[in-house]
Amino acid sequence: MEIFYGKCGIGRIKLKLEPIGKCSRCRKNSAIIEIRYAKQKLCQSCFNNFFINRIRRVVEEFKMFNKNERVAVSGGKDSVALLHALKMAFKDQDIFAFYINLGINYYSDHLEKKVIKLCEDLKIPLEIYNLKEKEGYTIDEFLITKYKDKMCSVCGTIKRNIFTLLSVKVNANVLATGHNLDDTVSTMMSLFLIGDFEAIRKLKPVLKPLLNGYPRKIKPLITTPEIEDLYYVSLNELPLQECSCPHGEITTIKQIKNWIDELEKTQPDIKFRLLSIFRKKIIPLYEKNLNEELEDIKACSICSMPSNSEICSKCKRVLELKEYKQKLEDLKIEIDYKELQKMLKENNVIVIDVRSSDEMNELKIENSINIPSEEIEKHLKNLLKFKKTHKIVLYCNSGRKSYALTIRLRNMGFKAYNLKDGILALNFSDYENLLSSSWSD
Ligand SMILES: [Zn+2]
Ligand SMILES: [Zn+2]
Repeated sequence: MEIFYGKCGIGRIKLKLEPIGKCSRCRKNSAIIEIRYAKQKLCQSCFNNFFINRIRRVVEEFKMFNKNERVAVSGGKDSVALLHALKMAFKDQDIFAFYINLGINYYSDHLEKKVIKLCEDLKIPLEIYNLKEKEGYTIDEFLITKYKDKMCSVCGTIKRNIFTLLSVKVNANVLATGHNLDDTVSTMMSLFLIGDFEAIRKLKPVLKPLLNGYPRKIKPLITTPEIEDLYYVSLNELPLQECSCPHGEITTIKQIKNWIDELEKTQPDIKFRLLSIFRKKIIPLYEKNLNEELEDIKACSICSMPSNSEICSKCKRVLELKEYKQKLEDLKIEIDYKELQKMLKENNVIVIDVRSSDEMNELKIENSINIPSEEIEKHLKNLLKFKKTHKIVLYCNSGRKSYALTIRLRNMGFKAYNLKDGILALNFSDYENLLSSSWSD
């Protein structure tokens, strides 16, 4: 049997599950997975045990959590195997899952349904955080920013921040993330290449919180090769292999991953050796020379998460996105009837009918103020009061007169918009819709 597993971006991984002789453990069933570094061939059930036992051992070896602690698990695609295996390994543990709907088209909503189903099946409580609803933006929107070719990194920054926030919210002392062996060694190598030893420290199996009151972060999959993670997902029919995120730029880390995969063909234990070198040699060396006092961690002035600068890197990026969106918004001078209808639902809109009495007809936008364009100068003083707080929509019969006034108001710094092609361009049903859309002011 062959299984295709969609990777981030447009790649796919092919997993082969074919009988390859007798299982080295039970010596009964036929083996379908070869674990080369351990010189073993395993059947489905022995592989599952092997996978789950390793997680149990790692949790115990690094004292990741004790039995009274609530363990939060990030429920994204990369941690589905972790969620399932943790539940299998620690049946009585208080495990809590999070899912962040990142607003990624053709992906986030689909995955959300799958995660809900999985958590129901496993009887794990789930907290869903919808980025658009809670914070007013989506990950896809970052495509208009300078981060367009660093989407995975922006996404990671935002997810880390929110997972921490949610852990605090549900009183979880521990936050488990899905970083596997391949993620860890390739990230270590890439940080090594740019000399960022400070960041290498963050790849430890257990990370103490930067500030009191925040969860410690654990990586139970740190010794699990990525491919085995995928096998586990497939064998246990955690139905996620067909969900793949459309973002997935080529990063140094991914290039290093491929390079290490290449080396693995002749040195099956290379990933474990790299992990051990970093853990046992490099990190202790670094920590010996680290002056803990130097680290100046404060609470971000916007979200109050631990950060080493006044505003954390998540909030910085979100602020930048908002600026970009504002610029796009400002670029728009004319709106159509649908956009007007949407705007009318907000409270801070003033609609001005600039027609003079001889241009009036039976069409009129409800609650609009009539200021004929010739008289606008007289009313400017009053309008100025709303310059900072309100949007102003102007209309006339054809859109021509009101456009000139829109520009005049823009010159003065108003957020002014022209109803494109005027009120006569509306067909009857648009007009009826507009009348019935509720608005005040
Ligand atoms: Zn077996
Ligand atoms: Zn922040």
